[in-house]
Amino acid sequence: MRNEMKRVLLGNSGIEVTELCFGTLTMSCLQTDMPSAEGGRIIAHALELGVDFIDTAQAYRTYEHVAAAIKRRKNKPVIATKSHARTYEEMNKAVEQALEIMGLDRLDIFLFHLTRSEEDYLDRRGAIDCLLEYKQKGLIRALGLSTHTLEGLKPAFNHTEIEIVLACINSKGLGINDASLDQFLPALRKLHAQGKGVYAMKPLGGGHLFHDVAPSLNFVRRLDTVDVLAVGMKSVAEVEMNVCIFNDQPVPAQVQERAKQVSKQLKIYTHICQGCGSCVAHCDQGALSLQDEKVVVDQSKCILCGYCAEECPVFCIRVI
Ligand code: SF4
Ligand code: SF4
Repeated sequence: MRNEMKRVLLGNSGIEVTELCFGTLTMSCLQTDMPSAEGGRIIAHALELGVDFIDTAQAYRTYEHVAAAIKRRKNKPVIATKSHARTYEEMNKAVEQALEIMGLDRLDIFLFHLTRSEEDYLDRRGAIDCLLEYKQKGLIRALGLSTHTLEGLKPAFNHTEIEIVLACINSKGLGINDASLDQFLPALRKLHAQGKGVYAMKPLGGGHLFHDVAPSLNFVRRLDTVDVLAVGMKSVAEVEMNVCIFNDQPVPAQVQERAKQVSKQLKIYTHICQGCGSCVAHCDQGALSLQDEKVVVDQSKCILCGYCAEECPVFCIRVI
């Protein structure tokens, strides 16, 4: 498995990475909330197997996990991070925090986190100016944006400083909030043709395609619009399974078995739930109900099929 990973250039940015990127969202405070030492051990294992690209974010609070994985490495992996910061001061703090906690002299890729439209991007003027200054000083190599929407891709068309796009892409179109996959992919294709580096987030639909890992990952790998896939991992077994898949090697049965044992649960972000009831109507198991205009799950009835999540208009149900 070691050191055989395919390497690619992220568009015209000049940044070369492995096709498999270690996504740290799954071990973050937003999902499993893994201790940094444990997370660092899992990331370090991926680096040992040849993975050379890590995706993190200010909001994930996984800088300590990354730091634990890279501190003793002579050759640092490529690291992408992102921030929701809107003002100059907020973004300056975000960059300083990333550099300090991860113990880096410079950052490879810094993204504007979850852009929703051109207006939303322009509303971050102070943050844009801040990152442009860091780029000019050579302390950030490339800028970009991450988005879940077609509208959110627009700044990448309109602004040359956006060199890299992190977009939600999976075989079912899960998590793309304002378009179908058939509408989303042509826009990405145009950006890619313009030389933007494109990497995919949620290739396993936030966990909903975990029952079909290799076909789901290979679907995204074969898209001519995508350079790299950021895959969330939270166990050594998942790392080994994904490295095999990206090396086009068969996954050993015992690795598959261990990866399957990674516990999953249905998680509902009730603070986002709008109480529309759409998920309740689509749960054949009768596991969901509304109480005080918020959805609740009866875990004893839930079979983790993930069908309810596909129906949620605000993407607040996940199998993790
Ligand atoms: S994951 Fe499946 S069984 Fe569980 S609540 Fe959702 S639809 Fe129902
Ligand atoms: S579909 Fe989403 S927003 Fe609607 S009730 Fe279910 S969890 Fe809440």
